[in-house]
Amino acid sequence: MLIGVDMTTANTPSNQPHEINLVACIPFIAWHAMLPLAFLIPFKWEYVAVAVGAYFVRMFAITAGYHRYFAHRAFKTNRVFQFILAFLAQTSAQKGALWWAANHRHHHRYSDQEEDIHSPARKGFFWSHIGWILVKKYEPTNYSAIKDFAKYPELVWLNEHFMVPPMVALAVTYAIGGLPWAFWAGVVSTVALWHGTFTINSLTHIFGSRRYVTTDTSRNNFFFALLTMGEGWHNNHHFHQNTANQGWFWWEIDATFYILKALAWLGVVSDLRLPSEQTKYCYLKYTDAQRAQLSAETKFNAWRTPPPPKTAPTPEATPVITLGAAPQPGQA
Ligand SMILES: [Zn+2]
Ligand SMILES: [Zn+2]
Repeated sequence: MLIGVDMTTANTPSNQPHEINLVACIPFIAWHAMLPLAFLIPFKWEYVAVAVGAYFVRMFAITAGYHRYFAHRAFKTNRVFQFILAFLAQTSAQKGALWWAANHRHHHRYSDQEEDIHSPARKGFFWSHIGWILVKKYEPTNYSAIKDFAKYPELVWLNEHFMVPPMVALAVTYAIGGLPWAFWAGVVSTVALWHGTFTINSLTHIFGSRRYVTTDTSRNNFFFALLTMGEGWHNNHHFHQNTANQGWFWWEIDATFYILKALAWLGVVSDLRLPSEQTKYCYLKYTDAQRAQLSAETKFNAWRTPPPPKTAPTPEATPVITLGAAPQPGQA
């Protein structure tokens, strides 16, 4: 895919048409088309284990790295581990960490409004799941939206050479297990990981329940939370986006957060931000009108209609508590 350093125009509402980048589509389509080749490789459970392992290791890097760290700064870590997180996440072939996080910040800023890049409510399932990724308009990285991490030259380099990690991962798996490992980790697992990640943009705004009133269609879904290591608690997340945990109650399984807790015990990460009790339980004080709003049906493909009025408090306004030392401004 094409990518450039555009500090001013990327990812901003404009009259630029949604022109598909056909060249960028080729590897994306080819990876899907290659899936049946799995039947040509004599089956071994070992290959399934490799694919599943590659899926969850990289899903952790996407949810903990791309999402909770780079997009939301929900915890702190050192410069070496932030690079490792970015590199590992980029082996998923979902472009650069700074590109991903900048787009995601834009999503929260305009969730399900006209400007939202991937809103299923505004532009439908297919667009939110895959379509927006394949158009030229959203290819450049909007560095102005991710200045706090764009100050690290190694992250900018990685972001602009976003195909290096997938190529390295492919070479390593080939060196260890030959063509079968490279295929099951590099193709089968990567395609599954694409759709697992895209589910956060699409299906978690369509299927599930809503506990908190937000200005978008975000939902909580147990199954998606398993598939995405905790990202399925998307309504919690949209209500308060800067917490390191997205499952806020004991039954809301959040594998990413459990691993982050373990890494905090080991001293690799710190200052995991958590929602306050006031934030978690505020739904108990909702009015009848707010409860009705939660159960209201979502209107999809509403791109021709004006956006709904904002009625809920902004997530940023709700308080958080922090595990460990108090956060320091500017600390990554
Ligand atoms: Zn969302
Ligand atoms: Zn988010």
